[in-house]
Amino acid sequence: MRILITGGTGFLGSHLCERLLNEGHEVICLDNFFTGRKANIAHLLPNPYFELVRHDVIDPFKFEVDQIYNLACPASPPHYQFNPIKTTKTSVMGAINCLGLAKRVKARVFQASTSEVYGDPEVHPQPESYKGSVNPIGIRACYDEGKRCAETLFFDYHRQNNVDIRVVRIFNTYGPRMLPDDGRVVSNFIVQALKGEDITIYGDGTQTRSFCYVDDLIEGFVRLMNTEGVTGPINIGNPSEFTMLELAELVLKQVGGSSKLTFHPLPGDDPLQRQPDITLAKEKLGWEPTVSLEQGLEKTIDYFRGVVNS
Ligand code: NAD
Ligand code: UDP
Repeated sequence: MRILITGGTGFLGSHLCERLLNEGHEVICLDNFFTGRKANIAHLLPNPYFELVRHDVIDPFKFEVDQIYNLACPASPPHYQFNPIKTTKTSVMGAINCLGLAKRVKARVFQASTSEVYGDPEVHPQPESYKGSVNPIGIRACYDEGKRCAETLFFDYHRQNNVDIRVVRIFNTYGPRMLPDDGRVVSNFIVQALKGEDITIYGDGTQTRSFCYVDDLIEGFVRLMNTEGVTGPINIGNPSEFTMLELAELVLKQVGGSSKLTFHPLPGDDPLQRQPDITLAKEKLGWEPTVSLEQGLEKTIDYFRGVVNS
């Protein structure tokens, strides 16, 4: 198949490009390089079945493709809050452009949605049926509401125009090729520990997240995209839940070194808890995570050791 991946030079996108090329597909990678990097896909450039296009998803695009994965959107809070209006435009107009293209060329189209559609959840763990608790005017709203609107567009194009859709709700995922200054918690803690700097805990560190290793997530993506009769939304994530204090301790144990924990104000609307209910993914896709946080951190620490040393 010929497959378009928007946001293909980012953290998740670059792993997906690699996976689909390895399966023998042609891949068109579209990106505006806001948080993506050529270095993430440089090793793929010699492959004649890989094409890189510098383009912004808010502007229309046309490609003859069989499948579209729409990943274009900054995912780290500091990056999506840098230009919040652009973040909403990216989610909403990017979705419209992907869906319009899918409708024209009859491609199957996949949306990288997020656990952020549940906001600061009152239901724990979060099943897909939970409608969420999002502050529409807070500092995370550009991302949360942009992604919620994108889901709305996906389901309306499906109902109104019969577009073949897949919607995944991704829970916190980490691994090699995250940016060292990305701002997300796993990369922050690892880079701080490797450099012997203070570990920055926001709030009292009792808030929780559930961390999925990138290879597990990409397996879930490919299964959802290629399973018939499942539109989603479907949660993909690792249900093992940790407080940020537990994560910091684990990182320090694995990296070693002498970093101290320091405490900083909790950013606005930061969700207190998050854990995916993955019953649907197990039932419909036969998917569940296979990499523990300890194993995934080991691989991620190895990657960042190389980055920090260079
Ligand atoms: P990332 O920031 O590494 O990748 C995003 C990519 O999109 C980058 O390559 C960036 O340059 C590109 N991009 C941003 N705006 C664009 C635009 N207007 N036009 C074209 N390209 C644009 O983040 P990631 O972790 O790889 O996330 C990928 C997708 O998965 C995002 O849609 C994100 O919302 C979603 N997601 C990720 C996580 C996670 O834990 N990693 C969790 C939930 C959802
Ligand atoms: N966090 C932290 N220290 C950091 C970065 C993040 O304590 O250096 C916290 C953050 O406040 C949040 C959690 O870690 O409670 C996860 O943050 P991240 O930005 O990785 O993801 P998200 O909040 O979008 O789930």
